Amino acid sequence: MQKFILYIILVQMPWRLDANIINNNINKINFLEEGTCNCGCDLDREKVGTSAWYLLHEIVKHGDDEYEHAFRTLMHTLSVLYPCKECRAHIKEYIGTHRVEMSEQWMCDFHNDVNVRLGKPIFNCTI
Ligand SMILES: Cc1cc2nc3c(=O)[nH]c(=O)nc-3n(C[C@H](O)[C@H](O)[C@H](O)COP(=O)(O)OP(=O)(O)OC[C@H]3O[C@@H](n4cnc5c(N)ncnc54)[C@H](O)[C@@H]3O)c2cc1C
Repeated sequence: MQKFILYIILVQMPWRLDANIINNNINKINFLEEGTCNCGCDLDREKVGTSAWYLLHEIVKHGDDEYEHAFRTLMHTLSVLYPCKECRAHIKEYIGTHRVEMSEQWMCDFHNDVNVRLGKPIFNCTI
């Protein structure tokens, strides 16, 4: 019950909290740890992935500088909550080495980084 309440507080109000606080605290909730069915068993990685990319590309396309902080928080939250452990690790690693920017270029580069890891073709970000 306590974990559920903490989860509601942290996830439902992400824009009011610093990304590091969300990260540190959600990590304490072990409902997403290995052993639970959040990756591999019933997840359609392709479908979730393509939908997530669509959403992320649309967000940066219509984004505004004013929402830069909210976008950073979103990416940090995804690195904790994205429903695929391997993908979360990729997100965490990428945002740890590439400062998050709410721009189409940043998102295209990130998507290409995942494409390379998965052996998929690189998308031309200049089009
Ligand atoms: C943040 C994140 C991390 C992921 N990490 C993993 C992982 O670690 N392991 C794993 O198996 N899956 C991962 N996925 C899922 C994976 O990236 C794909 O979504 C999935 O494999 C389906 O691939 P797809 O070929 O249908 O095209 P997708 O990669 O889903 O792309 C959808 C469409 O976007 C377009 N596109 C491709 N590249 C770009 C680009 N650079 N910029 C703009 N548009 C582009 C193309 O038209 C493509 O058809 C991740 C998804 C996300 C959102």
